[in-house]
Amino acid sequence: MFQLKYKELPYGITCIESWYQSEGIACCYLLESNGQFALIDTGTARTTPLIMALLEEHSISKEQVQYIIPTHVHLDHAGGAGQLMAELPQAQLVIHPFGARHMIDPSKLQAGVITVYGEEAFNQQFDELLPIPEERVIEMEDGMLLNLNGRTLYLIDTPGHARHHLTVWDEQSKGLFTGDVFGNGYPELHSSNGRYLMPVTSPVQLDPPVWHQSIDKLLSFHPERVFLTHYGMLENPKEHAEQLHRDLDAYVDIALSLNSENRYENLLEQITNYHLKNIQKHGCDISKQDLDRLIAPDLVLCAQGLEVWLHKQEKA
Ligand SMILES: [Zn+2]
Repeated sequence: MFQLKYKELPYGITCIESWYQSEGIACCYLLESNGQFALIDTGTARTTPLIMALLEEHSISKEQVQYIIPTHVHLDHAGGAGQLMAELPQAQLVIHPFGARHMIDPSKLQAGVITVYGEEAFNQQFDELLPIPEERVIEMEDGMLLNLNGRTLYLIDTPGHARHHLTVWDEQSKGLFTGDVFGNGYPELHSSNGRYLMPVTSPVQLDPPVWHQSIDKLLSFHPERVFLTHYGMLENPKEHAEQLHRDLDAYVDIALSLNSENRYENLLEQITNYHLKNIQKHGCDISKQDLDRLIAPDLVLCAQGLEVWLHKQEKA
């Protein structure tokens, strides 16, 4: 049903199209080091056959994949982890400690996702989450090093978008695999001012102050590039960090300015207007239809996550 699409990047990195929602929305990465491989993010279960087809096309045996590293347990990043682990006998799953139990027993995670997306959308976009044997799971710690056959991967705790979010620092590419913590930036959404990035404040563990700290923590590595799950390689990430900070502050200002009546609808409207204005200012030349396809689902997640965050603030 979905076609294998990928792009060879420098530094032994392959960017694989995940076919999440539509083309160009989400990807995952295959890293090579002296005949051993790691996957960072997995896409959904629908992505697994494509990853297996890529391995076959490149004559990579199933035994050569050493690590599967979802940046966090949102399903566009980890939904295919169970299926991949079942296919790849030598692989170990590397995951944030707050995400580990959801990979070992995914029943609660699956129920939670159905609550957010609804049963129909779940069945359309995802497949059943498969449990992963506990003995094949490595819980990361902040600063932990993984040795991918001579290539060092450094694991960084980066909460904010979610408490269970990690980022991978790859010394060889001077690059960070940032999952969702460095925002979403679709290649189609660009102008002579560069790519347009936006933080997506998905439910249910959003923590804006902590997210700010994680962005600064990532910059302390002096990355020359980031590898976004949404989407692809982005050079000179430092230039984008200030805007991500400003966006998060703007979201919080909007959220705190609203009263409880129709709050979700107002959040969605105001955050949509905020980005439409900024995208226009950025000078992006894109049709309304393409813009909708790219960011409308993200804007819904932004409003949902902020609504949940506000609710928690009120309860605290
Ligand atoms: Zn996420």
